[in-house]
Amino acid sequence: MCWVLLILVTTHLFSQQPTKPTSGEIYKAIERLNFLGNALYVAAHPDDENTRLISHLVNGVNAHTTYLSLTRGDGGQNLIGPEIEELLGVIRTQELLQARKIDGGNQMFSRANDFGYSKNAEETISIWDNELVKNDVVWAIRKTRPDVIINRFDHRTSGTTHGHHTASAMLAHELFEKAADPKAYQDQLKYVEPWKASRLFFNVSWFFFGSQEAFNKADKSHLMSFEVGSYYPLLGKSNTEISALSRSKHKCQGFGNTGSRGNQSEYLELLKGSKPTDQENLFEGINTTWTRVEGGEAIGVVLGQVQQQFDFLHPEKSIPDLLKAQSLIEGLKDKFWRDRKLKEINDIILHCLGLYAECIASSHTAVRGEQIKADIEVVKRLPGQVTLKRIALLPMGKDTLVMKALGDNETYLQSYLYTIPSDAWYTNAYWLNERGSLGMYKVDQMEWIGMPETPRQLNVQFDFEIEGKMLSIVRPIAYKFNSPEDGETYRPFEITPEVSVSFPEKVVVFGDQYPRKVTVNVKAGAPGQKGKVRLPVKNGWKVSPAYFDFDIAEKNAEQRFEFEISPPNESGELTLQAEAEVGSRIYNKQMITIAYDHIPTQLVYMPAETRLVRLDIKKAGNRLAYIPGAGDEVANSLRQIGYLVDEIEAKNIRLDQLMKYDALIMGVRAYNTNEDLKFKQKEILAYAEQGGNVIVQYNTNSRLTVGANLGPYPIKIGRERVTVETAPVRFLAPDHEVLNYPNKITAKDFDGWVQERGLYFASEWDPAYTPILSCNDPGEDARDGGMLIARHGEGHFIYTGYSWFRQLPSGVAGAYRIFANMVSLGKDIKP
Ligand SMILES: [Zn+2]
Repeated sequence: MCWVLLILVTTHLFSQQPTKPTSGEIYKAIERLNFLGNALYVAAHPDDENTRLISHLVNGVNAHTTYLSLTRGDGGQNLIGPEIEELLGVIRTQELLQARKIDGGNQMFSRANDFGYSKNAEETISIWDNELVKNDVVWAIRKTRPDVIINRFDHRTSGTTHGHHTASAMLAHELFEKAADPKAYQDQLKYVEPWKASRLFFNVSWFFFGSQEAFNKADKSHLMSFEVGSYYPLLGKSNTEISALSRSKHKCQGFGNTGSRGNQSEYLELLKGSKPTDQENLFEGINTTWTRVEGGEAIGVVLGQVQQQFDFLHPEKSIPDLLKAQSLIEGLKDKFWRDRKLKEINDIILHCLGLYAECIASSHTAVRGEQIKADIEVVKRLPGQVTLKRIALLPMGKDTLVMKALGDNETYLQSYLYTIPSDAWYTNAYWLNERGSLGMYKVDQMEWIGMPETPRQLNVQFDFEIEGKMLSIVRPIAYKFNSPEDGETYRPFEITPEVSVSFPEKVVVFGDQYPRKVTVNVKAGAPGQKGKVRLPVKNGWKVSPAYFDFDIAEKNAEQRFEFEISPPNESGELTLQAEAEVGSRIYNKQMITIAYDHIPTQLVYMPAETRLVRLDIKKAGNRLAYIPGAGDEVANSLRQIGYLVDEIEAKNIRLDQLMKYDALIMGVRAYNTNEDLKFKQKEILAYAEQGGNVIVQYNTNSRLTVGANLGPYPIKIGRERVTVETAPVRFLAPDHEVLNYPNKITAKDFDGWVQERGLYFASEWDPAYTPILSCNDPGEDARDGGMLIARHGEGHFIYTGYSWFRQLPSGVAGAYRIFANMVSLGKDIKP
């Protein structure tokens, strides 16, 4: 075996935790081993995919099925925490991987960034780099070699759904033939071959018809329809139950789904290729048996036998035939099928022996050059002649001849000291390593394009001799620990920078000319980090001192430094990047931990930046109560400009307590996520009546816990959004206090907004409300329901869909001034 070649081996984190299949699942894997057909499902976002069809293709048809999501879903909202933008994309990537773990599909992406809502495909394509996205779609087709490609969306109806959606369908439609052209995207041909799928379908669904009823009535004679509600006894679930479990992994979007049972139909419209005569068989006329591959016939015969004679109590009895088939697969000339099927059969052989092999690092992070302890565990839990011949820590570590015959159910343990190579790459989400554009991630490594995660470079290779035959497997070095609550818990093993820097505040807002303290944290990824930390300022901003020395003895320990920053005299902004200097190296990235129960904990390195904003702002009122909703940073942003903000759980709301606050502010989607608010609505409105200001940020109309009783007077939330962040804003009530006191609001206050103007504006309201502002996307009707204010008794009630939750944390000056005016309604400026 050539070790030099193995340095190139990289594996995916996805497979970090050992899988432990039952006999039924092993048998299912053998069925899939005997099916040589591929499907590619194409859409735009995490959650677009039809998990029912993906599960049917994987578990019913046994096809190798990949979901190509053009984006990672950065632009959406997060229902479970504060992460937005790139960090939300990291969460959604992991949620998709968890979904695929359940339905058995594979996952790919393009470099296209979900830059936010887009009303048609033309706009989408003008913001994405069209050539790069095309390259990536062709790459996905050539890599996965689908026999059938299935579009989630209709390529013919731009403007009727999110522009990303239609664009995904248009791209797959356009590139169907292009992927087969050897003159197109030639630089890919070093890695993949041109490929032409046999068929292209559009996955028709009732939601393209407006309602299930309309769909039932529609003429479907031109569509293929087939059953996708089958029960799989080997898996103990109906297809529709699997798809619901898979879909429920999209937790940050609130897509929990209850499984159903019984017959269900799926509909496909053929767009390209020949129409199958058998409705149930998308692969009709395509050879999906082993005879598809040159030299495959004999493999099919042997594996047919394995399938027929499989003993569910003694899967190890299949080993001799599996080894025979494995030798034949090794001899295949066709690299695509050889690699794919070798991986599959090797896993099956190990599972038939109940063979467990892993390598666990002593810490969940390490830096280059650091020495870690690596604990190996190997155990073969079923009968069979197996010798562990060699263990190699890759790429450059220990290579040990073991030559240990494995007894039945005897655990082999071994520990090694392993030094992380000095040129190891950081395990950071690879698409965030470099700054991309609004529409695209920047990825330098061609081979990584499309991958869901950063491939793991540090692996362990186990060489086994199984009944006289060599079999090698490569597993990523993993990390696990015992959690008192959850027991055995895996966490990715990460290679991190030696030093990271961070600002606790993403934005520092200066409400006046006085200096403010700006905190910087320096964290050591390895013991003994010494150097200087500084904040390079310019444009009239001043910093003191020029630098601090840091000296951090312990790994993962942090030191905190307070710089004093003075703003310029006039309003202005500066993006400030922290720098730590150690020897000749500069570190300017922060390390962000994303921890949720339903995905592996993620470490993300992003530029360590904070935005300094010098505001010209006046405030009346000082004490605010904030009721958290789906999670946002608005309370912290308000603290920055000097408000005293108490965050109060909805269930603890009490009218007498509320009376000490100048305003009561509802976090985004508070009424969607918080059952308790329904029971407090009376007290909330009474608070307004007695002189308080109630500010309700956007909620969606569905899942509104208070139903029609959101405000003191009837108000209906619509679906209107204004996605162009530069859309002109008109003043409908220019004399209203909120536009004049204490800050005079002008068009300038709507400069520099990010991502959008707002969402879920009100669509209908009682005349008691005054609409204050109006705006709209190009070519659309005016949207007047983005800020509605009603007097209620002595106080005010405000519903506002303007996206304060994006503007305030981004340090948008005008947003602060308008928000301060909302809080100040009816209040006097205290001297
Ligand atoms: Zn979508």
